[in-house]
Amino acid sequence: MKPRLSARVRNITPSATLSIDAKTKALIAEGKPVLNLSVGEPDFDTPVAAAFAGVRAITSGKTRYTPAAGTLELRKAIATKLMRENGLTYQPEQIVVSSGAKHSLFNIFLSLCDEGDEVILPAPYWVSYPEQIRLSGATPVVVQTTEASGFKLTPNSLAAALTPHTRALLLNTPNNPTGAVYTEQELRALGEVLLDKEIYVITDEIYEKLVYGVEQVSFAAAVPELMNRTLTVNGFSKAFAMTGWRLGYVAAPLDLAKAMSSLQSHATGNPSSISQHAGLAALENFKPAMVAEFHRRRDTLVRGLQALPGVQCLLPDGAFYVFPNISHWLGHRSGGQVIDSSSKFCDLLLEQELVSAVPGDAFGAPQNIRLSYATSYANVEAAIGRLQRFLATLQP
Ligand code: PMP
Ligand code: GLU
Repeated sequence: MKPRLSARVRNITPSATLSIDAKTKALIAEGKPVLNLSVGEPDFDTPVAAAFAGVRAITSGKTRYTPAAGTLELRKAIATKLMRENGLTYQPEQIVVSSGAKHSLFNIFLSLCDEGDEVILPAPYWVSYPEQIRLSGATPVVVQTTEASGFKLTPNSLAAALTPHTRALLLNTPNNPTGAVYTEQELRALGEVLLDKEIYVITDEIYEKLVYGVEQVSFAAAVPELMNRTLTVNGFSKAFAMTGWRLGYVAAPLDLAKAMSSLQSHATGNPSSISQHAGLAALENFKPAMVAEFHRRRDTLVRGLQALPGVQCLLPDGAFYVFPNISHWLGHRSGGQVIDSSSKFCDLLLEQELVSAVPGDAFGAPQNIRLSYATSYANVEAAIGRLQRFLATLQP
């Protein structure tokens, strides 16, 4: 007899990014020369100073429980960082450190939302947002953005999506999967729609350091009037190549920070003491060379994609993803099989040319695919060649 699953998890789908990455890594372990452009995980090492701080934490007995919201030392250092780099004034008590920004977001939805609440979610969106919103009992209200607007939410479409049930707006800049980065004026214009409304803004700025020739502005810095209704999310995975350490944080209004800390105290307790020590050292050891290398790869990848037949690709300003439109190829055939979705496109691309990408279906954008350039420059170049060969085999 099949066990009964709770209604909460019955319809949940596994993270597409993580499951495609796992499948790809298994193929590579079998000896297949797959180019992995699926997962968003820097291919750089954790800064040495952070790694050693982690080792020192282990050998010097910093291996015990910490306060649920993280050590005061780390929360103070994060408050200093938010002031210095983002122009935001937060007290350490307003910061909750968690086991990855994914966990911070989960704490946010659980602490902010009730059954019947709505969270406005611009599409394309990162795969975990809609599932996390639903798990909290709230409903994601997906607002499509267009390539013409650079995949950015406009004040008009935000205003049109508001209802008496709107609880929060979720922004992600720089964006996963599109790489779009909102300007200060664009953030300001969105904020102005919400000035006289009791609506929170959750702003996921985990890719903030990865911008190429544009300025990254924090939402609350652009709209200071909304500071007491803004939750600023960030983490160590992308900026410091620390995905496996599982460390992220949110800076929030005090009452919400207290609630999230209590919630976390009953769920995971505290984030790893070892990772917290490494994170403290990481904050002082950012490596700009990583950004320069991502910039170089982005330019090569976008140039290569724009030269492919039937592929449109915007030049993204940030993160480490490109999000080409492949709709021209939907309905084409490969051998006996019809490419009826971006998922089918990615399956066949993996099967035939050993290039792993994530279908836009997973991000609420069925006409696109996501390619991550958080992989070597050589892989980026080789992927373009294989894509070209793949497209040449497709028949109308
Ligand atoms: N937000 C966005 C937009 C992401 O792409 C990711 C993926 N890593 C996360 C949050 C979560 O990152 P982590 O849990 O590794 O801190
Ligand atoms: N956020 C990254 C991605 O989109 C890592 C995987 C995940 O946590 O979703 O690929």
